[in-house]
Amino acid sequence: MSNLKASNVHMEDAEKVQRIINEFVKGGTEKLQVISDFDMTLTTPNDEYGPCQSCYNALDSSKFFPSIYQQKAEKLKDHYYAIEIDPYLAIKEKIPYMVEWWTKAHDLLIEFNLRKEWLPQIVKESRIIFRKGCDWLFQQLNRLQVPLLVFSAGIGDVIEETFKSRSKLYDNLKIVSNFIHFNDEGLIDGFEGELMHVFNKNENVIHRSGYFEEIEHRHNIILMGDSLGDLQMADGAICENILKIGFLNDKVDEFLERYKKSFDIVIVNDPTMSVPNSIIAQVCEAIETKMADGVKVNDVTNANATSNGSVIGDAA
Ligand SMILES: [Mg+2]
Repeated sequence: MSNLKASNVHMEDAEKVQRIINEFVKGGTEKLQVISDFDMTLTTPNDEYGPCQSCYNALDSSKFFPSIYQQKAEKLKDHYYAIEIDPYLAIKEKIPYMVEWWTKAHDLLIEFNLRKEWLPQIVKESRIIFRKGCDWLFQQLNRLQVPLLVFSAGIGDVIEETFKSRSKLYDNLKIVSNFIHFNDEGLIDGFEGELMHVFNKNENVIHRSGYFEEIEHRHNIILMGDSLGDLQMADGAICENILKIGFLNDKVDEFLERYKKSFDIVIVNDPTMSVPNSIIAQVCEAIETKMADGVKVNDVTNANATSNGSVIGDAA
């Protein structure tokens, strides 16, 4: 667990973290599920080539839109982002502004006629970059059939396209986000379902969809986010052990103490997935060792039953 000892990893209660990890090992992969935010959690805020982008940033900078679209989107961001992070406003007070921001941003996409066929190129040319190590994480979770719920206030179609083009749309992956509705000609004509913004990740239709009930036996949860609003993502899930991992990407001095009180592990300014991966590797290795031991015992027992014990002797 050397990754947890790195100087940019903070834990209020390291013993609690280890206790939870031990419970995960005990529970096995069949009890485990992962819930993660997308922008700046699975994706990185910067890499060796410079700053990276969120779903909305990628759309805002796309060459498919005229510069007036970009100016309007930028103006919205300048106005509402200050409200989103205002430390003197309660979340309850911020929510109406967030709804206003998202609604106006979506209206802009409609006004400027976003087309479905643009999305692959928008994503290809974007700087939406998965953290280093995400590929391993996605493969590993898929191999062990551990469900991964990606919960995002971004744009679901962009997230889906990012998985398709920069990784893979694995069958254990579920994306809950703002999905665009396109008409028969592939032109945007609205959004599907309820609007999801940064502060209503506990009220989405997923919480009433039966998703969590279907996997209620998976009561060991790894939750990953970069915003305090992400802490609500697992609301409604049946949960015995939850490990909350927070990426603190910005304003570290201002937010570190609050993040430490909210997340079990806080990872500061790290563009990789190496800390969560080391935990998942530890859990998986321990589980697989247990499973391998179990298989050996069963194999030997079964073989022994049909061959009068000669297998044990042969194997030895
Ligand atoms: Mg985020």
